[in-house]
Amino acid sequence: MTLGVYIQVPFCQTKCTYCNFHTGVVSRDRYQPYAEAVCREIAGAASPIPETVDTVYVGGGTPSLFDPGALARILDTLRSTYRTESPEVTLEADPETITPAKASAWIAAGFNRISLGAQSFDDCELQAAGRMHRRADIFSAVELLRAAGFRNISIDLIAGLPHQTPESWEESVSQALRIRPEHVSVYMLEIDTDSRLGKESLAGGSRYSASAIPDDDTIADFYESARQRLAEAGYEHYEISNWALPGHRSRHNLKYWRREPYAGFGAGAHAFDGVSRWANAHESDRYVACMEQGSSPREQSEVLTPPQALDEEMFLGLRMIEGIDFARIERELAAEVPRRMDILRERIDYLRSLGFLEVEDGRIRLVPDRLTVSNEVFVQLLS
Ligand code: SF4
Repeated sequence: MTLGVYIQVPFCQTKCTYCNFHTGVVSRDRYQPYAEAVCREIAGAASPIPETVDTVYVGGGTPSLFDPGALARILDTLRSTYRTESPEVTLEADPETITPAKASAWIAAGFNRISLGAQSFDDCELQAAGRMHRRADIFSAVELLRAAGFRNISIDLIAGLPHQTPESWEESVSQALRIRPEHVSVYMLEIDTDSRLGKESLAGGSRYSASAIPDDDTIADFYESARQRLAEAGYEHYEISNWALPGHRSRHNLKYWRREPYAGFGAGAHAFDGVSRWANAHESDRYVACMEQGSSPREQSEVLTPPQALDEEMFLGLRMIEGIDFARIERELAAEVPRRMDILRERIDYLRSLGFLEVEDGRIRLVPDRLTVSNEVFVQLLS
């Protein structure tokens, strides 16, 4: 089986109000030592059995802040450590960080896919969320990327930003469709309660426009409207939050939902080999210090038990619109967790009777017009 590689760049220019990821706003002087540490970690990961890497995803954070030369060195180190085979190589980029020189350098380094953090085409929403870019930056970023030769661009949108209205949401979806990216992600805003916006919202305050967050029903309507419009525009809906033109599904992200192996490099990066999961230290300083001292940055590691593997198969697999091959899961896990499998079958029947799940030819999937309550279905199924 082939391997995916995730590389984490945990730095941003500012902190978005809704975000509580382990990312920091740090001096640019810290970028270079971090990139060197990542190269060192990759070079030290050489496996006795040569593995073939077919997807690479450099995410964050805002990796497009890095000097393109540093990103190129990271990809060069990967290529000298692993065999690669027609890899999909994605870079997450924020619109305001893109220049013609950077876009050309990214292509020359081997990136062939850009995931663009557009989020909204409404300047008031972008400003309230603490984003650095504005609507005009998204258009110029796409133009620059196309001119540099990128033929695979993904655009992220967030449904539920403060100040979003049905009209502004329809406008954001219209502008995204007008750009005609190969891939679109629509995330329903889930505010981390430890983010600035989350704390303010819980306290009932109005800083960060917390009092202008649309309610859950409105956010669900935004999602449903986007679902319909993307389908009409020829995009295939293949995962709860993801749509693609034919042939442009994210090969890297599919590995996560299919529980295929991936390696992770960088602070806070996770990895999975089919049996165990592990993660590096989140603190970038600590991570860099470990790599400079030649010690392992790994902080957590666990071998999944059969019940954990079963839960993962369900909540990751059900994110895909095609659902999961439940007959395969039964074949692989029923003997190890018979009681849990019986309970799961009962719950599937119950959720099916309520119209949340459908079963066909041994496959189980979420009913398409119930995707907005997928989290509640997973809780019912697995708690
Ligand atoms: S750019 Fe992304 S990672 Fe950085 S603060 Fe904003 S949401 Fe968080």
